Amino acid sequence: MPLTRRNFLKVSGLIVGSAYFKKKSSTVLSARDFDDLRIEYGEETTSICPFCSVGCGLICHIQEGELINIEGDPDHPINEGTLCSKGSSLINLVKIYDQEGEGRPNPNRVTKVFYREPYGERWQVKDWDWALEKIAEKIKNTRDRTFEETDEEGTTVNRTTSIAHLGSAMVNNEENYIFHKLVRALGLVNIDHCARL
Ligand code: SF4
Repeated sequence: MPLTRRNFLKVSGLIVGSAYFKKKSSTVLSARDFDDLRIEYGEETTSICPFCSVGCGLICHIQEGELINIEGDPDHPINEGTLCSKGSSLINLVKIYDQEGEGRPNPNRVTKVFYREPYGERWQVKDWDWALEKIAEKIKNTRDRTFEETDEEGTTVNRTTSIAHLGSAMVNNEENYIFHKLVRALGLVNIDHCARL
């Protein structure tokens, strides 16, 4: 058989395929093998890795409301499908695996609002509506108390320097744009982001 490109690919595919099935047939299947297959039936959604300012793109697979897999997004221009070791372990934020490959919810994941009042010694569990109201109240009170229309030379500044906004690597460009609009409208001038966006 002449060695054409097509024949080369056919033969290579057969060798790789037979090596894979040989390995599989001599290996005890674990729960992870079934997770690999399950992603075929999972709903896909995209997201951004929250760990650092590189902002790698992710594909998340969800089945019946449960996150079953996270992997690099090959269509994302930053990482083109790759993830570093931190990004590759993202699923462990919500799910951990034992040595047999059985997954269970990560018991260390924080899913509630914890609040410690000033000078308090204990954390109290609050709901999200309470937390949003509290944040809004604090922003409004601080802004009202510290807003400056002009500086000491009489120049119009319309600012408060008593509130700062720090962005997150989990936030994409469009979300950063909206955050900027919001905090600029409030008169904030201390605005930063770990990637300096
Ligand atoms: S996968 Fe790694 S490099 Fe990419 S954003 Fe996450 S932590 Fe940063």
